[in-house]
Amino acid sequence: MILKATEFAANKHRGQFRKGNLNTPYINHPIKVAYILERAGINDEEVLAAAILHDVIEDTDVTYSDIKNIFNERVADVVLEVSDDKELTKDERKDRQVKNAPRLSYEAKLIRIADKICNIQDVCGKDVPDWSYERKYEYLEWAKNVVDQIAGTHEVLENLFYDEHRWGRLKI
Ligand code: ZN
Repeated sequence: MILKATEFAANKHRGQFRKGNLNTPYINHPIKVAYILERAGINDEEVLAAAILHDVIEDTDVTYSDIKNIFNERVADVVLEVSDDKELTKDERKDRQVKNAPRLSYEAKLIRIADKICNIQDVCGKDVPDWSYERKYEYLEWAKNVVDQIAGTHEVLENLFYDEHRWGRLKI
């Protein structure tokens, strides 16, 4: 199922790139999110498949029903939960992620935390987007605010997040 999700997501994210100067294919991001989860000891294949698919509703033409039909309802539910509503403004979406975080399912919370770990690594790392210090700092604090809302979800993953957050602050 994980390979099927990888093949599917790679096709859907075709031609999309991560922010930054290294022309990183978009698919590297969801693969990394799934890898972070696996390294933290999460081996539920439906959660890992949902991690691989976590941006396809938000960023491609894939719908909830597509995922339900091709994978299953549990995977589709989790992907939908972590998808931002693109009709909202960027600020509204950011606010909503903070407010909705406690209401997410356990599976969606895991993906949310791993996604933030990955994004912090990217924002503060060598594939650095041309962001100002303030913008990076703001991103770090917003990501922490989201993860703070769901404290107690998964100790290993949360420790990884807070380590990455501390490192991020030193690196920017
Ligand atoms: Zn993501």
